[in-house]
Amino acid sequence: MSATAQIGVTGLAVMGRNLARNFARNGFTVAVHNRTASRTDALVKEFGDEGTFVAAHTPEEFVAALERPRRLVIMVKAGDPTDAVIQEFAPLLEDGDVIIDGGNAHFEDTRRREKELRERGIHFVGAGVSGGEEGALHGPSIMPGGSAESYTSLGPMLEKIAAKAKDGTPCTAHIGPDGAGHFVKMVHNGIEYADMQLIAEAYDLLRRIAGYSPAQIADTFRSWNTGRLDSYLIEITAEVLAHTDAATGKPFVDVVQDRAEQKGTGRWTVQIALDLGVPVSGIAEAVFARSLSGHADLREASRELPGPVAKPLEGAEASAFADRVEQALYASKVVSYTQGFHQIRAGSEAYDWDIDLGSVAAIWRAGCIIRAAFLDRIRAAYDSRPELVSLLSDEEFGREIGAAQDDWRAVVAEAARQGVPTPGFAAALSYYDGLRADRLPAALTQGQRDFFGAHTYRRTDREGSFHTLWGGDR
Ligand code: NAP
Repeated sequence: MSATAQIGVTGLAVMGRNLARNFARNGFTVAVHNRTASRTDALVKEFGDEGTFVAAHTPEEFVAALERPRRLVIMVKAGDPTDAVIQEFAPLLEDGDVIIDGGNAHFEDTRRREKELRERGIHFVGAGVSGGEEGALHGPSIMPGGSAESYTSLGPMLEKIAAKAKDGTPCTAHIGPDGAGHFVKMVHNGIEYADMQLIAEAYDLLRRIAGYSPAQIADTFRSWNTGRLDSYLIEITAEVLAHTDAATGKPFVDVVQDRAEQKGTGRWTVQIALDLGVPVSGIAEAVFARSLSGHADLREASRELPGPVAKPLEGAEASAFADRVEQALYASKVVSYTQGFHQIRAGSEAYDWDIDLGSVAAIWRAGCIIRAAFLDRIRAAYDSRPELVSLLSDEEFGREIGAAQDDWRAVVAEAARQGVPTPGFAAALSYYDGLRADRLPAALTQGQRDFFGAHTYRRTDREGSFHTLWGGDR
């Protein structure tokens, strides 16, 4: 087999197949390979006329089909399968070749793999890919890590297949060394969890307190989607809410079991945030909300607990409440992104990645699941002040939240009064108030720690660490 392919994709399930087609549609000759060869043949048979594919049935054939330096995308199930595929292909590669892992790998695995392969002279690019199967085909947001050198040969190809923001900029950029790309993809997914939870809470409030039907809520979301909340997730939420179940004629949302599942990237985000000491309360509440929803036993045992039953508002009161929910949703969403970007900054510092936060916001503007109009403003905020400690300290975002806060507080208070759970809205508001507080009760926590564990404390009026000899026999 002569080496004619500029890129190869191994792993041809939904994501790999669509990514391979995207490369081919953009004029690249693509070598394709899958453990089960029938998938390779099916791809070429079904989509062969979209571009130039080279079907390879063995790893040797696959590698032989690639022009040097070889660029080989692995799109298999994350975890052990990725290691198995690397072990299979790496011995066939040569100095300067590039392996790209487009799966949802844990960034620590990516760091390990990158180090091992670097020692063998092979570039390893852990690339987060977001946008689902449609994104993979029509243009995903791609977050590649790895060496800067690997990006010089790979970058232009990724830029071609990536989504384009409204200003035409491709939604991909070199994120930073080793695991930086997969770290950023992980936080992207964490923010996605938080965004989805906040939207779900907004729906619940509109349904139970404003008394709206799913169809009315779909209309409300459609109108919000023309403003500052303009985003893919709001858009698809309206579609889901407007959908009627064909079998029963009921709103689709009413025939689906209320148990949300998860694959793990949200959980990783929170686990790593705990390790880094970054408060990502919005993302954590979103992960816990999915977890709570899945505990049928716990929920069943608690159903008779006393509490208010929400009484829907009517007429003008209902629509005024809906407007307040929009303010609360927007403010809480800004807090989620603030927390996510804080985590990226903290990861970048801990691992010495030098991640450009403005560039991350820029490549999330299209293609990915959390794409949203306001990411352009986040990009502008970080581009003009890369040292920005918190998105909330950006003048424009700070002003908006300031204007939204009365409604935000009213919504959280009304939800508590009427017994509607809003873990995301409430956590976001507490984070906001925690940041703006002159004094936090952490002073008392330090006193307690010193009392029972002689952990010492710092004083407001003197340098040094202090311990009080607390009375009694302990
Ligand atoms: P998937 O269901 O995660 O994985 C199936 C693919 O992995 C098949 O090609 C399968 O080959 C291959 N595979 C599994 N174990 C293998 C092994 N031990 N050796 C060689 N190949 C093996 O597929 P997917 O949904 O397309 O996702 C691919 C990757 O993209 C995953 O890492 C996923 O997390 C990530 N991702 C997915 C989405 C999404 O929306 N689905 C979005 C972003 C990222 P066979 O055909 O031979 O079984």
